[in-house]
Amino acid sequence: MKYGVIVCTKCKKAKGVDLSFKTTKCIRCNKVIKLDKVRILYKTNSEQKLRSYLGLVNADLDGKLEEFRKTTQK
Ligand SMILES: [Zn+2]
Repeated sequence: MKYGVIVCTKCKKAKGVDLSFKTTKCIRCNKVIKLDKVRILYKTNSEQKLRSYLGLVNADLDGKLEEFRKTTQK
């Protein structure tokens, strides 16, 4: 498989990566992530599928964040 989806260990945001590289740098927090140290949530050869999955994961993460905010606003 060519592409993968990972979640940054520092800022917990999903990120699409090229699996031919050993490391990737998070665009949000600049953390260098070693690809063999993180769980790859999804693998695909299609860049289009990668993008749609990535959108899904980030929406899910944001949704949880929204829920979290609601429960803390009292
Ligand atoms: Zn990050």
